[in-house]
Amino acid sequence: MSTINIIYGTEILTMTYELLCKSGIGERLRGGMKVVIKPNLVVAKSADEGATTHPEIVEGIILFLKDFGIVSPIIAEGSWLGEGTERAFDRCGYNALAKKYGIKLINTKKDKVIKKNAHGLSLGICATFFDADFLINVPVLKGHCQTKITCCLKNLKGCIPDSEKRHYHDIGLHKPIAALNTILKPDLHLIDGVCGDPTFEEGGNPVQSNQIILGNDPVLLDSYCAMLLGYRPDEIGYIRCAIDYGVGNPVNASTIINKINSENKPKNNTLNQSQLVRKLAQLIDERNACSACYAALIFALNKSGIGKLGGEITEKIKIGQAFRGKQSTGLGVGDCTKRCEENVSGCPPTASKILEKLKGL
Ligand code: SF4
Repeated sequence: MSTINIIYGTEILTMTYELLCKSGIGERLRGGMKVVIKPNLVVAKSADEGATTHPEIVEGIILFLKDFGIVSPIIAEGSWLGEGTERAFDRCGYNALAKKYGIKLINTKKDKVIKKNAHGLSLGICATFFDADFLINVPVLKGHCQTKITCCLKNLKGCIPDSEKRHYHDIGLHKPIAALNTILKPDLHLIDGVCGDPTFEEGGNPVQSNQIILGNDPVLLDSYCAMLLGYRPDEIGYIRCAIDYGVGNPVNASTIINKINSENKPKNNTLNQSQLVRKLAQLIDERNACSACYAALIFALNKSGIGKLGGEITEKIKIGQAFRGKQSTGLGVGDCTKRCEENVSGCPPTASKILEKLKGL
């Protein structure tokens, strides 16, 4: 039987604790277990910007685990390319949390890497996650410039080293994300749906939704969340792949959705803002670009106003690893496109650097 549990409200810590109590998950916990919590700290921005996991959710988990004699869970994460995880731990409130409860933070960018094979791919994964007796995935429900949404399945990309993140984009993103989820199988997913940004992975346009969602099946949860953001689950490539690989099952007529405190649901939250990204994407020739690089370009295009005015770009902007070593006309973004006529350097370049170039065009 497939079940999704959702709680609504604004008291994030107590909501998390209550949701965990009602989920029955305590039956699977025992004292002394090694528990690893994987939040989303993709960038060093506070959770109210819509990109990162609220520390209050992780604090609710820590308090719940304590009730079962688990006093030293580990928080493990690796921010995206170009962002320092330690900076993110600090800005996102996780250093303070670790200090308060005397728990360990692990920057997976510095972790040992273990190679595993799945679905014809050789994937490097950070060792910390193999040591866990119980793995808790705590993604943010938000939009993504390339994959449309990011939630449970894609959050595991923080469990791989930076070199592997580049590799995933080089081989098409959806298949390796799904394959990764056949190797790492979190025991529990708690989705931060408090105020995710439905447009950008790096936040900046948070939409208040005041919900936390709990479940065991990442495909079920992601397919439900895709619909919350205005997509059909089959529009998301890695959800389709994950179904094919047997990771889980999508939402269907028999799915049970338990809603707690529905009266706290915000009345006017418009989660579907993906139109803007679709429009800006028409200005880009993207071939295997890394998320941080692509998001920086989308962000800069949005700021520049070029997308709104239309017709100002005569040739699409090139970005991605498939352009490496290739001579080309027009503007390229990132070191991979340095043989373009014009180029914004960096791996990845910052949005402000791209914006500067766009303004000069
Ligand atoms: S330049 Fe951009 S697309 Fe190329 S490897 Fe660096 S981050 Fe990835």
